[in-house]
Amino acid sequence: MAKKGFLTRNLHSDRKSKPEHGVLHKAIHPSVAYGYEDARELAEVFQGKRAGYNYGRQLNPTVTALQDRISSMEEGKATVAFATGMAAIAASCLSLLRAGDHIVSSAFLFGNTNSFFGTLNNFGIEVSFVDATDADNVAAALKENTRMVFVETIANPVTQVADLAAIGELCQQRQIIYCVDNTMTSPHLFSPRSVGASLIINSLTKYIGGHGNALGGAVTDSGLYDWSTYDNIYDTYRQGDASNWGITQIKKKGLRDMGASLGPEAAHHLAVGSETLPLRLERACDNAQTLAEFCAQHPGVKQCYYPGLPSHPQHERAKTLFARFGAIFSIDLVDQLDCFEVLNRMDTVIASSNLGDTRTLAIPVAHTIYYEMGPERRASMGIADSMIRFSVGIEDIDDLLTDFSEALAL
Ligand SMILES: *Cc1c(COP(=O)(O)O)cnc(C)c1O
Repeated sequence: MAKKGFLTRNLHSDRKSKPEHGVLHKAIHPSVAYGYEDARELAEVFQGKRAGYNYGRQLNPTVTALQDRISSMEEGKATVAFATGMAAIAASCLSLLRAGDHIVSSAFLFGNTNSFFGTLNNFGIEVSFVDATDADNVAAALKENTRMVFVETIANPVTQVADLAAIGELCQQRQIIYCVDNTMTSPHLFSPRSVGASLIINSLTKYIGGHGNALGGAVTDSGLYDWSTYDNIYDTYRQGDASNWGITQIKKKGLRDMGASLGPEAAHHLAVGSETLPLRLERACDNAQTLAEFCAQHPGVKQCYYPGLPSHPQHERAKTLFARFGAIFSIDLVDQLDCFEVLNRMDTVIASSNLGDTRTLAIPVAHTIYYEMGPERRASMGIADSMIRFSVGIEDIDDLLTDFSEALAL
């Protein structure tokens, strides 16, 4: 049978696991514990000899259904969900790395990931930050103890596009884990597996959930990395099919031991949201393209950063890699305009820190999400004091254009 399309697979995935009473939406299972009539079965579940549930911190049927859907979206081998995107990133790093290991990371990063990597430094895991828009910079930073390369697809807030394909080749040659945070593109716009990613991170809070009413995160094993060659797998997990070792260790160490589990209720909200991901994102990308073009020629805007503009340094790369150019863009204002006043003049657009919502949200980044980083690191990331980042929603474009033209008037 021909492989079905993304939307069809998403909408019908819950029916594949023999749902109770034929329900079309996977039920919300709030139970923490699971009872067994035969105590031997319980032991076999604990020993991994039989599929089943034992305790809510490790597995839950509602969460399993969402994990399977994300594996399907990413065309990966297996997915582990967490309470937030940050939990997925932290748990993946802490379960696969040890003191003395080295990470090469893109310097253009989500602020909290940047902060977390600073914490890792204090646990003896060294992180080198490089301009990952050129794979040569990543190659130059590799050391004998480099275990992981970490990049985002489209970086926040300046929208740099990493040299995703060339970094993938490099990691493959050197047997290094290639971890790609796909949050900004989502599996609808980009498949990290197609560039050789080993692990794919998604903050489900953003485009996949899409409505800004539930937190969640996930890590997907693409199936491309050969875990049999990876020294940091504990002996306990070096059993059976080696392709399961990495994700098993993330599940056991990162989820069971560290405990940032996704709740069933949030999993349900995220699953419902994920059904309309392609529809929402196509619309948001249309709106973002129109607004970015409007800003790029506006006299109140000094600079507009959006991969969909031909002037963007990685426009051609983005065109090759992504189905669309995403729904995030940023602007630097001319000196006569104040970022707070511009935002306060907007009516439809909301001043808010989230992204990937159905509503258009905007934030003065230097004063908020990148404040803690300090002026020097901000300058090195190209973040001006007047910069505003927009996460474009699915509103009627004329209303958004009205907001922008009124707010930016000189
Ligand atoms: C929001 C975000 C995260 C963290 O996700 P949470 O669900 O908020 O913890 C990680 N990476 C990127 C690129 C993000 O935008």
